[in-house]
Amino acid sequence: MMHSFLPVLERIAEEIEGLAVRGRPADYIPALAAGDPRSFGMAVAELDGAVYGVGEWQRPFSTQSVTKVFGLALALAREGDALWEHVGREPSGNPFNSLVQLEYERGVPRNPFINAGALVVTDRLHRLTGDASGSLRDFLRAESGNHDLDFDRDVAASEGEHGDRNAALAHFMASYGNITTPVPTLLREYFRQCSVEASCADLAVATGFLARHGVRADGSRLLTRSQAKQINAVMLTCGTYDAAGDFAYRVGLPGKSGVGGAIIAVVPGRCTLCVWSPGLDERGNSVAGVAALDRFTTITGLSVF
Ligand code: GLN
Repeated sequence: MMHSFLPVLERIAEEIEGLAVRGRPADYIPALAAGDPRSFGMAVAELDGAVYGVGEWQRPFSTQSVTKVFGLALALAREGDALWEHVGREPSGNPFNSLVQLEYERGVPRNPFINAGALVVTDRLHRLTGDASGSLRDFLRAESGNHDLDFDRDVAASEGEHGDRNAALAHFMASYGNITTPVPTLLREYFRQCSVEASCADLAVATGFLARHGVRADGSRLLTRSQAKQINAVMLTCGTYDAAGDFAYRVGLPGKSGVGGAIIAVVPGRCTLCVWSPGLDERGNSVAGVAALDRFTTITGLSVF
């Protein structure tokens, strides 16, 4: 197995070490507020099975909105194009937890990667499986090969205690009939999904199906080639919220961030990456994470552009 990019990762880790501005960890729940902006890990998973990394690439952290990608993949695989009647696929240009567009769009969120959209996807998945968060966890375990991967109960409980805005989004969409799971159940499922603990290694490996055009780790097909392309496209245009334009400009890969400080990225047909550092910019994306991915695609020339 090739470790083609290890020297590149080592160079990036050294450069990140010298990064003066690191951002601030999310502070809406204690578990995230305790994050150290100087923590840094980065992993690459190549399609031949090689997985390697630098820094704290094997340390578990709170995955948060990165899991929205896996929820979308499971819902799209089961529901097909009908899913897009419930959630759009346009960049929002607004913060990830914004309410403003929902009223004039009659309860149909702009895309699956803002909180409103992810709540709708969780609703669809829960209707289809009867256990949205359990099916997500099982999928992540199977794809990452880490069978200990799990929710963090304390994080899930804190999300619930500080979840007024997500509750407002869910109730508002329910008023338009675009959410049918009882809101308390839906929120429990959504907060569990946000609370998944995983490492850069786990997430880079688990994202592999998007680099393999929809084919899972065991060789079976989850998504059609077209659906895998669609998810990669929505990641590129919406995966980093109202900074998606800047992320495409700097990194040029489908990517998805979370407020725990992780970002996953896909080089279709080649490899997947995950980077983690808890210091965020004002839009909720990891400062060191975006910088590291920017360096990766600049040094290797591997971007979709
Ligand atoms: N738990 C966070 C929320 O629902 C996830 C947001 C994120 O990672 N962008 O607000």
